[in-house]
Amino acid sequence: MELIILGSAAATPNKNRNLSSIAVKYRNQILLFDCGEDFQRRFAEAGLKFNKPMKIFITHFHGDHIIGLPGFLFRLSLNDRTAPMLIFGPRNLFLYLFLHKKILGLKAKYPIKIIEIDHQTLELIEFEGLDSDEPTRTIKMNDNIIFDSKHFSIKYALVEHSVITFAYAFIEKPRYGKFNPERARELGIPESNLWKKLHEGQIIKFNGKDIDPVKEGIVGPKKPGRKITYSGDLKPSDSIINLGKDSDILIHEATFAKALAETAKEKKHSTSIDAAIDAKKMNAKQLILTHISSRYQEDALKLLEEAKEIFPNTILAEDLLKVELK
Ligand SMILES: [Zn+2]
Ligand SMILES: [Zn+2]
Repeated sequence: MELIILGSAAATPNKNRNLSSIAVKYRNQILLFDCGEDFQRRFAEAGLKFNKPMKIFITHFHGDHIIGLPGFLFRLSLNDRTAPMLIFGPRNLFLYLFLHKKILGLKAKYPIKIIEIDHQTLELIEFEGLDSDEPTRTIKMNDNIIFDSKHFSIKYALVEHSVITFAYAFIEKPRYGKFNPERARELGIPESNLWKKLHEGQIIKFNGKDIDPVKEGIVGPKKPGRKITYSGDLKPSDSIINLGKDSDILIHEATFAKALAETAKEKKHSTSIDAAIDAKKMNAKQLILTHISSRYQEDALKLLEEAKEIFPNTILAEDLLKVELK
């Protein structure tokens, strides 16, 4: 599992930093968080494959987080993409893409679903394809979970910014321990569907006896899943801390340095210090500072140093930085 920063600038790109976008490679699929302008260039530079199952999560409708999305979808429509695509974001996400279809002829021949998060009704509004502007269904949300699957779920939280903005958490489910085929053979269990069940930690009936794979040493004990939280743009509040509790990695915006704390507050953004305090409060293991204002082109390390005084395990995002999650 790998996390790749595709863009780490706030508001305007500069020679080193593109606008916000983060990719997570996980089990043959790509999860993307925000699509800043021209992020597709970094996507290609990072060696990511365009025909992979993808899920995209848009935090909010500020240009520096969304303008790259239609361009990326145009590119995918030129390729012979076949893999499915799910795109999540605030209300009006479908309309935004539908207008690109109406005016610019955006097409999607691959399966695509656009899912709007309605925070007022706590519903997900799903649109299938770009042909009809009628939603295909509405789903009631449970515990702010917007996507759930065998291996992971995605949860969102409404955060404080100048427009409706969501932070997202990738929450992996507990993972099975290592499978020991020798031990299964020793117990006389033939290689079959039973092995699969044992590997998944299920107790099976074999020769009239219950076999508990953990107790019998066939699989190691379950390991807790990994968690990554991405803040989007925000002014600090409890909602990000609740969402990101015990994250392995917190990717937090740090638009400003400590000296501009007042400006940060006014513009509903965070400073390096705010990010570090949030990381500490949520008991995160590591903090990545991103969404760096172009005014710090020459001295962004200052933000890192400020944050490290409060939260030592901090790194500064750079475009194409790769972080492996063990
Ligand atoms: Zn922004
Ligand atoms: Zn913003």
